Amino acid sequence: MSQQLPIKCTHGHKVCPECSAYKMVFLLKNGFDYLKETAPGGKKVNPVRYNYVSKNRKGLEYNVTGMLRRFENEVIYKFANVIQFYETESNTLVAEKRF
Ligand SMILES: [Zn+2]
Repeated sequence: MSQQLPIKCTHGHKVCPECSAYKMVFLLKNGFDYLKETAPGGKKVNPVRYNYVSKNRKGLEYNVTGMLRRFENEVIYKFANVIQFYETESNTLVAEKRF
């Protein structure tokens, strides 16, 4: 299956809600709702980030490690108590990091 994943976003982005294989969701600690982000419909949601489409075929572990490293200095990382990783297409939880 992973061989069929695109390694280039057809929309011209490096990370993409449609083309990235994985997404990470930051579940924020109590009291940090102000760090939530605004979804297109205006709803406040937990911050979501996507892996680089170019790394789609590198597998889960590679991408989890890379994404954790990419965001480890960000405020949302500091104030998350759980970070969940999902396969974007199936919306299946595939990994979880608890602090
Ligand atoms: Zn795309």
